[in-house]
Amino acid sequence: MHASDNVRGVKASATLAIAALCRELRAQGREVIDLGVGEPDFRTPEFASAAGIAAIEQGFTQYTPVPGIMPLRKAIADRIRADTGHPADPEGVVVSAGAKQALFNACFVLFGPREKVLIPVPYWTSYPTLVRLARAQSVYVPSKPEDSFKITPADLDAVHDDAVRGLILNSPSNPAGTVYAREELEAILRWAAERKIWVISDEIYSKICFTGERAPSVFDVDDSLLERVVLIDGASKAFAMTGWRIGFSYCQAPLARELADLQSHITSNASSPAQYAALAAFKDEARAKEAVKAMLRVFSQRRDKVLAQLEAELPAAVPSHPDGAFYIFLRVDAFYNDTIHDSRTFCSWLLEETHVALVPGVAFGDDRFVRMSLAAPNAALSEAVHRMAEKLNTSARPGTSSA
Ligand code: PLP
Repeated sequence: MHASDNVRGVKASATLAIAALCRELRAQGREVIDLGVGEPDFRTPEFASAAGIAAIEQGFTQYTPVPGIMPLRKAIADRIRADTGHPADPEGVVVSAGAKQALFNACFVLFGPREKVLIPVPYWTSYPTLVRLARAQSVYVPSKPEDSFKITPADLDAVHDDAVRGLILNSPSNPAGTVYAREELEAILRWAAERKIWVISDEIYSKICFTGERAPSVFDVDDSLLERVVLIDGASKAFAMTGWRIGFSYCQAPLARELADLQSHITSNASSPAQYAALAAFKDEARAKEAVKAMLRVFSQRRDKVLAQLEAELPAAVPSHPDGAFYIFLRVDAFYNDTIHDSRTFCSWLLEETHVALVPGVAFGDDRFVRMSLAAPNAALSEAVHRMAEKLNTSARPGTSSA
């Protein structure tokens, strides 16, 4: 088949590829523990589902305005205002088919050929592809595990040149669970504002935060630094609504109109019943908070348990200590040898030998690591770490790495 230059070199999302492999193994009757998953293992809160069902029953099943139904745009703007104090304008909200489409809209509208976009490493796997689809170039900004994988203005200075047009931030981050403090965000935003660089801030995990009710947002910083900022968030992670496909962008109204104009040619609007379900989740703060709190309690317990078990049973693997999201980024290059020599061969070997599925770190820009999801019951997590420890402590020989 002839693929155009538009998509040459574009590969399927690594996380979705692992999910497909797990399905295949399960179909063969193998008992797989899938820790590759990127979605909460919780049901959408009843009240949100009920609002979606009611929307279908009431016939809200037609096209909606491209940027979303006004009550939802207003509820989102109200939420931003209540959370951050920023006087958010509903006209700045564009509702999309998941945060992923909101990110695509923003990258495609803001970036183009001969322009560079800074991406801190490790990054969420789709950012480089989204930048590539806009025909711009990704420039990676390394971080260090000992700095909780955070980058600073000095790190940005080291890679900056006049072609840099954008920066993609992600806090809490996937895969390392890094949460930036407000002051750290402010320093980065100031750096970007001084250079007229656009900041796309992906805050899809903002409510899955172990250090406070929510992670600091770019909209917590001084309004004077927010002219070239696009916030990305949505219902997928916070409200366990991944399949409903509701995300949004928030920025100044003129840019929001351009994002909506692009979307009008691609998906038009996000699913109409799903918008009503999300409206319930964004509007009914008390019930939404209760659902998020219950989920957070479980994720936090799982995180503590898995970290303790890793330390006890598999000390040669070094984990990130996530302050948010629901993943652990685990350094495993101590186990690399002649046959297991990178994160892909490590994950294939592990899946084959132990039936535990993890995502290779190379998908996030760091081949020394693998990503382990906490979106699985305690028993499965504990069994997975146990199987890994049993196999790794005997088969692979720590210390043979040349990396
Ligand atoms: N941003 C990050 C950091 C993610 O981890 C994900 C999903 O895994 C998304 C965006 C996409 O979210 P959605 O399912 O709403 O498209």
